[in-house]
Amino acid sequence: MFFSFDGIDGVGKSTQIGLFADSLRSAGHDVVCCRDPGSTQLGESLREILLANDDVPIAPSSEMLIYMAARAQLVNQIIRPALDAGKVVISDRYLLANIVYQGYAGGLDVESVRQVGEFATGGLQPSLTFLLDMSVEAAAKRIDRTLDRMESRGPEYLEQVREGFLAEAARRPDRIVVINASRDIGAIQKDITAAAEQSGFLKNAGC
Ligand code: ADP
Repeated sequence: MFFSFDGIDGVGKSTQIGLFADSLRSAGHDVVCCRDPGSTQLGESLREILLANDDVPIAPSSEMLIYMAARAQLVNQIIRPALDAGKVVISDRYLLANIVYQGYAGGLDVESVRQVGEFATGGLQPSLTFLLDMSVEAAAKRIDRTLDRMESRGPEYLEQVREGFLAEAARRPDRIVVINASRDIGAIQKDITAAAEQSGFLKNAGC
């Protein structure tokens, strides 16, 4: 079974992925966590290029394709083999982020990004995506480090990202669960566990 977590930086994705993975492992599942971009040698190198806050010019279409290349490697090297082996995969971000950051907020045609994504992933989509949602301002307050290239694009860009995420969630309510991420860690965790159980995906996987 394949889950992903998404949302703007600071909403608590890493925190909740850790807790969700722990709870699934306690229930006897074999869990593989990964991050997109990243988790493979190629993906981590591309991640450095994408997120480095330097003055290397990267055109929007180049940026989108670099994310896709990292994801293609991730699917090929980690996600597909894990799923084939009956494991549960949890990814910190996935194609949805590309559609939203480079499409909705970045100005690229959303349907074109979707099509390239279809090719890059071989059509592999998460069964369920947890969209952690909260205000841009409150999420920024949680980030206690130097901002990366995406984060430093400013609050207007991140507002568009948030709106894009919510638009995609409205488009695919069966696949994207919106979680109010402005609450305490335990309350969010409870909602995520309940949504995963309700989805029936874990049971259907025979895990
Ligand atoms: P993301 O992976 O989405 O960028 P993190 O999980 O790294 O977010 O969380 C960002 C920061 O906010 C961390 O310092 C984390 O400890 C803190 N944090 C996470 N969830 C909450 C929450 N529900 N309430 C308050 N602080 C939180």
